[in-house]
This record gives sequence, C-alpha cells and structure tokens, in this order.
Amino acid sequence: MERKLASIVRILDVHPIAGADAIVVATVKGWKVVVKKNEFAVGDLAVYYEIDSFLPATPQFEFLRPRCYKKMSDGREGFRLKTVKLRGQISQGLLTPIPASLSNAVEGDDVTAVLNVVKYEPPIPAQLAGEIKGLFPSFIPKTDEERIQNYITESEVDVRGQDAYITEKLDGSSFTAYIRNNEFGICSRNLELKPNDDNAFWQAAKFLNLQDKLASLDRNIALQGELVGPGVQGNLYALKNRTVYFFTGYDIDAGRRMTFGELKEVLELLKLPMVPVLEYSYVLPTENVVENMLAYAEAKSALNPKADREGVVVRGLTQEFSFKAISNKYLLNDPELS
Ligand code: AMP
Ligand code: MN
Repeated sequence: MERKLASIVRILDVHPIAGADAIVVATVKGWKVVVKKNEFAVGDLAVYYEIDSFLPATPQFEFLRPRCYKKMSDGREGFRLKTVKLRGQISQGLLTPIPASLSNAVEGDDVTAVLNVVKYEPPIPAQLAGEIKGLFPSFIPKTDEERIQNYITESEVDVRGQDAYITEKLDGSSFTAYIRNNEFGICSRNLELKPNDDNAFWQAAKFLNLQDKLASLDRNIALQGELVGPGVQGNLYALKNRTVYFFTGYDIDAGRRMTFGELKEVLELLKLPMVPVLEYSYVLPTENVVENMLAYAEAKSALNPKADREGVVVRGLTQEFSFKAISNKYLLNDPELS
C-alpha cells in the first residue's frame, strides 16, 4: 500500500515557543509542527503533510521553494518536506487549512492522491542493485516500518506498557533472501533482482553463503535484513566489507513473521549476524511514548561508536506490533533523509 502522506488530522494541542512571537507549535497524531500563531486552534481539522512528502509545484506551495525545491530522478519537480528546527523547536511536516474541494473530509481520511502528493525518493546511487528480475514476491511482506508518530494513533494495538525488544535501525538498503520450493531469490526493498556477480545484493548473498545456508533448513523461509558497507548509503558505519544484518525471519508456509526467539535461533544456527539488539525485554512507557522513544532513539551506533544511530525498531514480544523511532538528531543532519 502507498504511504498515507497527506491526511485529515485534528489539532490536538497548540503551544507557544519560547522566544517566538509569530509562531507556535501544534501537535497532530504524534507529530510536532510549527505553524503561524492564530492559524489553528485545538480541535480544528487540517491537512497534514508528513515528512518525506513531495508536494506539487503549485502556487499554494511556492513559499516552500527556497528550502524545499527538488527534482526527482524521473524529472518531476516539486517541494520535499523534511525535518527542520525553528527557534529551537523541531518541526516535521506541514499543516494547511482544508481546501474547499475537500470540505466533506473527516478526520483520518487519506488525501495523498487527491492532493497529488507522492513520496520523495532520493536519486538512486549508481547500479547498486543491477538488473531487475521482477516485482517483490507477493508471498513475503515488505520490510517497511511505520513511524511511531503515526503508529501511536493509527494502530489498533495500544503499545503502552507492553513488553518489547528493541534493535538498532541501520541506515543501509533493505535486503531479502528467500528459499521457496528449492528456488532461491534475492530482493531489494521493492524488487526481485537477477543473479549477477556485479550487483551488491547478490555479492552479499554469496559472501554470506546464503543459498546453501537457507537450503540447509529444508523449509520455505525468508530472511530480511539491512545491506550495509562500502558503497551503500555512504557507508556511515565505516565497515570494511559489505554484509547484511538481519532483523526478520518469515515463515512462508505458515504466513507469519517468526518470533524474536525463533529468529535468534535460526541466525545462530546459520551463523548469520543479527542487527544490534539494544533491549531483550523492555517495558514501553505508559505515557509520552513518542517523546520517550524518540529520546531513546538518539545515541551512537553499536556498529561504530563514532557514528550516530539512525534510530530504533521496536517490536512486541507477546503482542504483535512493530514500529520505528527515528532519531530527530539524525534527521536534522542527514541530507537525504527527512
Ligand atoms: P526506512 O528506512 O525509514 O524506510 O524504515 C524502514 C526500513 O528500515 C526497512 O525497510 C528496513 O530495511 C530498515 N531497517 C534497518 N534496520 C532495521 C531493524 N533493526 N529492524 C527493522 N528494519 C530495519
Ligand atoms: Mn532506511
């Protein structure tokens, strides 16, 4: 499913910003957005455009041009929303009044398509993935994770006080290896890739001897992880070799994600690395979950103490849930993330 980037939201809170007269900070879902004073009141409905949104270059958004203008690799021009800090206040995304054309909209409506908003995709680095075999297999879920700021209000699961395990979120490239009825495949985030010695994904699969290892399990299974190292996203952990740190095991026949215990067991058996585990059993806060987990997310990487952590991924140990908390510090420093 396409991401819900623009939606109808209710203003939950409006707060002054110390030292600022003309601007205030509004809360929508779990997000903080700086807006003009008196533009919105608590309880108002508005359109919220999340960070990562690529807005059309229409007169309404011209004010964004100096800071946000981008051209995507497909030639489309528009304005990309990213995390900013205004008068010391983090601001993520954009709030506008609801246009007349959407006067019947209700809270929660996804207005991404009608408002011509798409996800901003940074230019793809040279030939990392090589040739495409086909679409991402339909029998494996993609590795996407929802952001805590949305998850907290939009998920059915109330995560407060729940027991979770927490892993470091690595900033590389999504990698999936699977074996199904003796057929072995490698996929990037959205595509299956042709076997080819000069693409980074297949090289990593060979380096890790994944085909033999998966075949030795004698079951239909996918392992998903993050490809990191030289040539991937600037190699910010300064690794010597390209490798994959795994975070998900998927039982294809049962159609379910493995538990943390099952994944750990499989990875130990196959001698494959897991993403750094920060907490084996962590009770999530009962209040201010977003603020607390965003604070938790900000730290150094376990792969390299000189590198900042991108964030964390939090998954339930008993209840099934999963979301990411990305470090705002990291977002403010990274030119390609928002
Ligand atoms: P994003 O990179 O913001 O699109 O967030 C989702 C992606 O995080 C997934 O597609 C994974 O490729 C990646 N990721 C990196 N580290 C982890 C981790 N520890 N657990 C789950 N996903 C991860
Ligand atoms: Mn990523």
